[in-house]
Amino acid sequence: MNTFMKRAIELAIQNVHEGGQPFGAVLVKDNQIITEGVNELHINHDISGHAELLAIRRAQSKLKTTDLSGYTMYASGEPCPMCLSAMYFSGIEQVYYCQTVEDAAIVGLTKSKEIYQDLKKDKANRTLAISQIPLENMHENPMKLFQEKN
Ligand SMILES: [Zn+2]
Repeated sequence: MNTFMKRAIELAIQNVHEGGQPFGAVLVKDNQIITEGVNELHINHDISGHAELLAIRRAQSKLKTTDLSGYTMYASGEPCPMCLSAMYFSGIEQVYYCQTVEDAAIVGLTKSKEIYQDLKKDKANRTLAISQIPLENMHENPMKLFQEKN
């Protein structure tokens, strides 16, 4: 197995031994591990404490940039939609995973699989109610303000 994936799996196993969920991730550039993360939901009351997100957050903080183009993510588990979106936003172009969201669902970690299924539905049919409240004429328009300033 790829050494970076081996490390991600190692982190996941260690995290389970420490009372956490089976997820580890390493962020790599030029064949070197830049940062690592494990799922920390058992430590902090923070649903964004996923392995990949923490690896991304640490790299961006360490490198003082939000641009991670050229980086590769190795995740022990298939990324959830939140972490996958963070990879899109940060410019990561390649992610490798080992165990699937279906593997996770089998052991009771069903959220990722459910969210991926939900996102395939039309907005109106999703389990999370999402509704627009449009800007009224009297309000300043933040999008237009941004456009003017840039
Ligand atoms: Zn995630």
